[in-house]
Amino acid sequence: MDQSLSSDLLPVADEALTDAAPEPRSFLDRLFDRGLLIRTGVDGLYGRSGAFESVVEALDRLVSRIGGADGAEALRFPPGMARSSFERSGYLKGFPHLAGTVHSFCGNEADHARLLACLDAGEDWTAKQAATDIVLTPAACYPLYPVAAARGRLPEDGLLFDLQSYCFRHEPSLEPTRMQLFRMREYVRMGTPEQVLAFRELWLQRGTTMMSDLGLPLAIDPANDPFFGRAGKMLANNQRAQALKFELNVPVNSEDKPTACLSFNYHQDHFGTTWGIHQADGSVAHTACVGFGLERITLALLRHHGLDLDAWPADVRAQLFG
Ligand code: ATP
Ligand code: ZN
Ligand code: MG
Repeated sequence: MDQSLSSDLLPVADEALTDAAPEPRSFLDRLFDRGLLIRTGVDGLYGRSGAFESVVEALDRLVSRIGGADGAEALRFPPGMARSSFERSGYLKGFPHLAGTVHSFCGNEADHARLLACLDAGEDWTAKQAATDIVLTPAACYPLYPVAAARGRLPEDGLLFDLQSYCFRHEPSLEPTRMQLFRMREYVRMGTPEQVLAFRELWLQRGTTMMSDLGLPLAIDPANDPFFGRAGKMLANNQRAQALKFELNVPVNSEDKPTACLSFNYHQDHFGTTWGIHQADGSVAHTACVGFGLERITLALLRHHGLDLDAWPADVRAQLFG
């Protein structure tokens, strides 16, 4: 994995660090060494340093500047959504393996005593936990659709939203770019097929310009979501055949398997049908979203410009912090 990285990806600024180590340190270990990410004991669950956060926040502002003139309505949801909405969204059909539900203790005093006894004995204390009405948000746009549907028909021009949320996906990994809790900034467009495809095209261009202006090597590639199981393979093939999803990939962990830092998704009428979102003329709305993985872009910058933010190229710093 990380050890297989070709050396040209190693930032010059960190060569001394690499040389001094008895054996090559992985990218993740070097992020820990510098305190940019903080271990919690769980793969994919990390603390972030102030420096790391300053980049995340700068990227969030940069995205706002690029999309600012479009008049998107900003909405912020906490990183949990209503379980009823989650169930209706269809997420469990495609991605049961990634979902995270919030459970709480719902027992009586005797159950409490049993819970503490289990804990003391090092046994499973979670049996008396029951599902709450909250599920962890899997993608920033998921809480939006029922809210938009409740407003009634879209205006002629459709709607445009600006979202950002911590998202949860149960995909523990030693690649720092694959976290279990991470932030996704999104713009979501709802309207006619022409309106939402024009939106996606615009962001494919804007995203490419943004990332190359930040000095990152990139490629736009067709992609698919990681649908579960054998039926999922067909859904994934279909998604690719219809060019519904593109990713902006940057080599971060390896040259061979670059990392999706932005994604551009055309949902056709999937969410419109699921939620009953209708265009002005009454037909089912189409939707599309562009997602920015804020930690992933931060990690791409750290990989390519070095772990010392002060030593980043002046023009990159100017765009982020200027
Ligand atoms: P991948 O193919 O790498 O799993 P994805 O297709 O699951 O990515 P999306 O579902 O399109 O990604 O999510 C939108 C954006 O959120 C991605 O472009 C990426 O930047 C970010 N993202 C997705 N999964 C993670 C993760 N586990 N950790 C950090 N960022 C993520
Ligand atoms: Zn989305
Ligand atoms: Mg994924």
